[in-house]
Amino acid sequence: MRIKDLTTTVVDSNITSLRGWVDNVRDHGGLTFIDLRDFESTIQLVFDKESSIEVNVKSEYYIEISGIFKKRNSELINKKTLLGEFEIAVNEITVVNPSKSLPFQIEDGIETDETIRLKYRYLDLRRNEMKHNIVARSKTFKSIRTIMNKLDILEIDTPTLIKSTPEGAKDFLVPSRKSPGSFYALPQSPQMYKQLFMMSGFPNYYQIAKCYRDEDSRKDRQPEFTQLDLEFSNGNPELVKKNVEIIVKHIFDEAFDIKITTPFKTISYQESIKLYGTDKPDLRIASTISDSTEIFENTEIKFIKENLSNNGKVLSLHTSELLTRKELDRLDQLVKEMGSNGLGWFKCTDNELTGPLVKFLKEEEINSILSKGSGVTIFQSGDLLEISKYMDVLRRDIFKGEATEAASFLWVEDFPYFENEGGVLQPSHHPFTAPKDSELFKEAPDEAIALHYDLVLNGVELGSGSQRINTPEIQKLVLEKWGLSNEEIDTRFGWFIEALSYGTPQHAGFAIGIDRLVAEILKQPSIRDVIPFPKTQSGMDPLTEAPSSINESELSDYNLRYISDEKQ
Ligand code: ASP
Repeated sequence: MRIKDLTTTVVDSNITSLRGWVDNVRDHGGLTFIDLRDFESTIQLVFDKESSIEVNVKSEYYIEISGIFKKRNSELINKKTLLGEFEIAVNEITVVNPSKSLPFQIEDGIETDETIRLKYRYLDLRRNEMKHNIVARSKTFKSIRTIMNKLDILEIDTPTLIKSTPEGAKDFLVPSRKSPGSFYALPQSPQMYKQLFMMSGFPNYYQIAKCYRDEDSRKDRQPEFTQLDLEFSNGNPELVKKNVEIIVKHIFDEAFDIKITTPFKTISYQESIKLYGTDKPDLRIASTISDSTEIFENTEIKFIKENLSNNGKVLSLHTSELLTRKELDRLDQLVKEMGSNGLGWFKCTDNELTGPLVKFLKEEEINSILSKGSGVTIFQSGDLLEISKYMDVLRRDIFKGEATEAASFLWVEDFPYFENEGGVLQPSHHPFTAPKDSELFKEAPDEAIALHYDLVLNGVELGSGSQRINTPEIQKLVLEKWGLSNEEIDTRFGWFIEALSYGTPQHAGFAIGIDRLVAEILKQPSIRDVIPFPKTQSGMDPLTEAPSSINESELSDYNLRYISDEKQ
């Protein structure tokens, strides 16, 4: 029996074998109360003064009781809990299992170091707020399966001991004992396998897939995460986006009882960078970034003049709020930490400008800034892509009060095919993405646009997808432009290019990050709060202490030797 099964129909009857944890024990002058807790509920247990029962329990003891289930006297009703109208007058108590002293209290809002919570995650998961998150995660899985069945999409699994699938991170490698010196990779995503299903003729595919990416610790990323992975034969971006909208709408409704409106808005990558400084804008904030380069065309402000002569830009944001000096100093610090030279600002009150740079302004510059109205105009000048990053952070910080609405979705598309990372061209999605125009791609790959689309929710990238390349020629070309030699293409992707060569239908797909989705809906500060057993920021599991070292004889089973000492 669970506590939630106790209903008015059993009032005044004897309840037996009710089990749960001692949430707390209170002694009121000989009258002892215990809150008994199980997965969903708590109920008050009463031990009468006269009863000869010895109550020798402490918090988190697991106990079994029998007793009379009673309505409480009206003045003793606790309206805060579900079963606050009732209590059990205990006539028998057995300790099933005692508990050691706890490392932290099993209650909401504890201020315990996260590493300690993760070391004792099984206790942390006893807390209501964590249980709530994990149940929400479970409901999300359930709602995914309902809608997939309704849409007649096939759930198919793919292997996890594979040859590398690049998604822009490093692989987690698994040494093979039987083939000394050889390694499997754990999938960064099931990308190539789901494409193989399309080549085999399956009409569609989905999987709730574990993905593994060995990335330098970036904020709120996990080395292992869960995504809803999708693929559609004869698919194109429109078909995929339409299906993703149906799926997301269903998850919000069934698992969270939140109604959302579809279709979602779409903007291009270029427009997104221009208006919001990022490709994952939070559209709950209405204010946009302005290009104010023209205002400063003939400026005497030295650093702006220099930046403009180097093809730089001036971007600005205007807030009607009269930010204080302290606030401005904080924002200055914020952008400096990101690499900016500092925050430029002008304050406008009663049609008058103030600020450290005002004395260098020409009259027409003053008039242009004043025309923005009362409030503060902040700006950054320099290389467009670099200052866009600072403006994105400033926009989200200054206008964070506007971000109240529950869910603001956005499709971003028309990404450049390649990003230039330190002189090396990296596909902005993955190298299986089709270019929008294959001819242009052949001639000028760095100008090519990818048939890649991202879904953004409240400024968080929820997922990505693309139309795929379905011919061996274009696939090979993309890998060449990515900088791989013919030999590398052959050894790493030869098998895949071969598979593309037997009548491959067009296909397109998507993947939604489930951890991010649940964390965002539940407004959790980190995805770690919605993952049952996450790793720390440095990739450690404080509970099991994984990853852990392996002794020499085990290493030799795998024909491996640890060489760190020799290197030094
Ligand atoms: N494989 C991609 C990813 O994991 C998603 C996709 O293109 O379908 O981001």
